[in-house]
Amino acid sequence: MVIAEIYEQAARRVLERCERLAALSALPDGILRAYLTPEQKQANAQVGQWLTEAGMSTWLDAVGNIWGRYEGKKENAPALILGSHLDTVPYAGRYDGILGVLNAIELVHMLHEQGRRLPFAIEVVGFCDEEGTRFGSTLIGSKSVAGHWQDDWLALEDDHGITLAKALHNFGLDPNRCATAGRHCDEVIGYWEVHIEQGPVLEAEDLPLGVVTGIAGARRSNIRVSGQAGHSGTTPMHLRKDALAGAAAIILAIENTAKKFGGDVVATVGQVFARPGAVNVIAGDVILSLDVRSQNDTVRDQVLLAINDSVEAIVALRGLTFSWTHTHSAPAVLCDGKFQAIFADAIAATTHAQLASKFLPSGAGHDAMAMADLCPVAMLFIRSPGGISHHPDEGVIPQDVALSLSVMMQALESYAATTEVS
Ligand SMILES: [Zn+2]
Repeated sequence: MVIAEIYEQAARRVLERCERLAALSALPDGILRAYLTPEQKQANAQVGQWLTEAGMSTWLDAVGNIWGRYEGKKENAPALILGSHLDTVPYAGRYDGILGVLNAIELVHMLHEQGRRLPFAIEVVGFCDEEGTRFGSTLIGSKSVAGHWQDDWLALEDDHGITLAKALHNFGLDPNRCATAGRHCDEVIGYWEVHIEQGPVLEAEDLPLGVVTGIAGARRSNIRVSGQAGHSGTTPMHLRKDALAGAAAIILAIENTAKKFGGDVVATVGQVFARPGAVNVIAGDVILSLDVRSQNDTVRDQVLLAINDSVEAIVALRGLTFSWTHTHSAPAVLCDGKFQAIFADAIAATTHAQLASKFLPSGAGHDAMAMADLCPVAMLFIRSPGGISHHPDEGVIPQDVALSLSVMMQALESYAATTEVS
């Protein structure tokens, strides 16, 4: 497949800039850029400079998101927002979030160089707190833009007891003005996010890009299984109420239930706490974490009911008891159908139909999830070699980045054509 030199060149610059941002880190031996830290300030300054060079006016909003705006044919036209996040997890990769912001800057840079204006404005955003590394929050940047700033966030504390309010103040932002980061839906026509897949699906199908259909809703719970603690030497097998052996059966039942439902359903037990937790004591109490996701909220809730049935059967058989605590619930978000079609057509047009358009759900959360409350959203995934992410070995194939730029430019052009007609 031949990709125009202009996109190859742009991809090289995107990747070189990913390296430069990777150097802005709080860790000496890895990447960490958390919310409202000196590293975020440096990254905002650097990205702000690139936004300016690409022909945009720039500003920092009330919660710390960095923005650039490229006017359309008419001043003050509603904007299509392109972007992703600039914050990272500890020992992060170079591309999660960052790539989407830099990719967006390149697109505007090209339009600017060619002196082209579209019927709508383009705004590029680098969100500030997608990962929630510092305050245990998530999506503060994009939720605030979507108008969902919450004052109770101000009391959140980091590991050093610094509140979010104090951190905002230290960063030079006014904690009382955070709600003003919210945008009005009349000013925004959509949000497009390019992101690495962070999973193995595209690679397994030998495809560089994928069109995201939606972002799975997650429900998290703790299942507590109770039995009877006892001496491992003196309690015969037939007289035991072993909570950990019961929990093991439950974990396998959860795996089987998710497989039986199939489709995009995933269910994971990632943590097991056994008490009292000694080598010579039968576990009397076990807490299992459970994370269930699907792009279909109804299906996801049916999975939870089915898991509950299996747990009931298992504990009854073993003379154990159990209880649930639900800790987190986020509804699934669907990507806009028209945007999905534009992306798929752009892939076909750019590759002369040599590449199939793969539609896939996102199992991970993204800023697009929060932005969906403000405007229609769309996401384009770039293949993740080895499916690796949130890890220093996270990678991208340069050719894939070039193709994503070419496809996104095609998508912008097609969208511009439809808005001009209507
Ligand atoms: Zn991300």
